[in-house]
Amino acid sequence: MPRSRTPDADPKAKKAADNYPAILYAKGDGVGPEIMASAISAIDAAVRYAYSGKREISWKEIVIGKEASKKLGDPLPEKTVGLIRSHKLLLKGPLETPVGTGHRSLNVELRMLLDLYANIRPVKYFEGLKSPLSNPKAVDMVIFRENTDDIYTGIEWGYDSENARALRSFVSERYHIYLETDAGIGIKQISRSKTERITRAAIEYAIKNKRRSVTIMHKGNIMKFTEGAFREWAYETAIREYRGSIVTEAEVVQRYNGNVPKGKILINDRIADNMFQQIITRPGDYDIILAPNLNGDYISDAAGALVGDIGVLGSADIGERSGMFEAVHGTAQKYAGKNVANPTGIIISGAMMLEYMGWEEAAEVLRKAVESAIKDGKVTDDLARYAKVKALGTKEYTAEIIKRIGKG
Ligand code: NAP
Repeated sequence: MPRSRTPDADPKAKKAADNYPAILYAKGDGVGPEIMASAISAIDAAVRYAYSGKREISWKEIVIGKEASKKLGDPLPEKTVGLIRSHKLLLKGPLETPVGTGHRSLNVELRMLLDLYANIRPVKYFEGLKSPLSNPKAVDMVIFRENTDDIYTGIEWGYDSENARALRSFVSERYHIYLETDAGIGIKQISRSKTERITRAAIEYAIKNKRRSVTIMHKGNIMKFTEGAFREWAYETAIREYRGSIVTEAEVVQRYNGNVPKGKILINDRIADNMFQQIITRPGDYDIILAPNLNGDYISDAAGALVGDIGVLGSADIGERSGMFEAVHGTAQKYAGKNVANPTGIIISGAMMLEYMGWEEAAEVLRKAVESAIKDGKVTDDLARYAKVKALGTKEYTAEIIKRIGKG
C-alpha cells in the first residue's frame, strides 16, 4: 500500500499548506465577537491585496471561555487544546477572568499548556492618538515578557488553607521564620533555563529587526535570587551567545567613551520602579524591554498608556511550536454588542501573526491602512472622544481600514 504523504514529507504539499493555511480563531467574551469579525475581514482584505489569491487563510473557529463552558461544559476543553497544538496558530479574542474566585486565567493556562514563553508587545505611537506625553513620537518599544515563570505560575494558597498551615509550620521549624497566620502565601520562582530562552528571543528579535538596545527590567536589589538572578542570567546569555552582536552598558562606559559602537546592540538593565519613570521621562532611550512575567505585565500597560490607548495595542505569545495572537485589552463588557468597540488591537495582532508567518507584505499594508485611518481621525469612540472627531462604529471603522488597504 502506498504511504500517504504528509505536507511535511512532500515539498509541494507543504508549499500548498503554507500558502493556504488553516488558522484557528476564538471569538472570546465581551466585545470579542465584534472585534474578531472586524479583524478577520481586515486581515483577509490585506492578504487578498498582497497576494491576489496566491495565498489565503482558511479560518476555523474554536471555542474557549464562557461559550465553551456553555456548549462543552469546560472553559478550556481538551479538544480545543489539541486543535491549537496541531494547527499552531491562534487569533484569540479577550477572555473574562473572575477576580479572587473562580477558574484560573485561561490566558495564563493557554500560555502554560502550550509553553508560549515569549509575550511580545510592540508599543509604537500612531499619529492622531492623544498621548499624555509632549513627544509621543519617541515611543517605539517592544516588550519581551517572560510568560511561564515567576509568581504567575499560580502556586499560592489561601491564608486558612491546610497547605498554608503546613507551609508555615515547615518554614518555622526548618528556617525559624515566622509567617503571619492571616497571610495568603504565594511562591515566586524564576529559573535559569526560562530566563535564557526569553533572553535569546529578545536578542534575536533585536538582531533581525536592527533594533538599538535591550534593557533588562528587574527588582534584583530586593529579590536577589529571583529578579536579581534574572538580570545575571540575561547578561550571561547575551555575552556568552551573542558576543559579536552586543555591547554592555559597562563596556560602553569603560571602553567606548560612552558611545555605543556602530552596529552593536546595547544591553543594559534598569530596576523596575526606575523603569516606569524612565519610559515616561525618556521614552526615546528605550527600545526592547526584557522583563520577567509580572514586571512585563505592568510595564506593558504603562507603556501602552504612553501612546494614548491600550485599545490599539496587539500582542503575540510565541513558543517553539505555536503562536497565539491577541489584543492587549480585555473584554470591555460594557461595550459588548453595541458596535462601539475599537478593533485596532486585534487587527494589529493579526498583522503580527502575518509577520510571524512570513507574510510581511500583507502585514505592512494592514498596518499602513490602520495608521492612515487613525491619522485622518476615522476612529472609534474611545479615540474620537479625545480627538474631538465624530466617532465611527466598529463596523464603519473596519470598512475605513479595508478601503485604505494598498492606498499608500
Ligand atoms: P478591559 O476589558 O481592557 O477594559 C478596561 C477599559 O478599557 C474599558 O472600560 C474601556 O475604557 C477600555 N477598553 C478596553 N478595550 C476597549 C476596546 N476594544 N474598545 C474601546 N474601549 C476599550 O479591562 P478590565 O476591565 O480590567 O478587564 C475586563 C475583563 O477582561 C477581566 O475579566 C479581565 O480578566 C479580562 N482581560 C482579558 C485579557 C485577555 O483575554 N487577554 C486581557 C485583559 C483583561 P473606558 O471605560 O474608558 O471607555
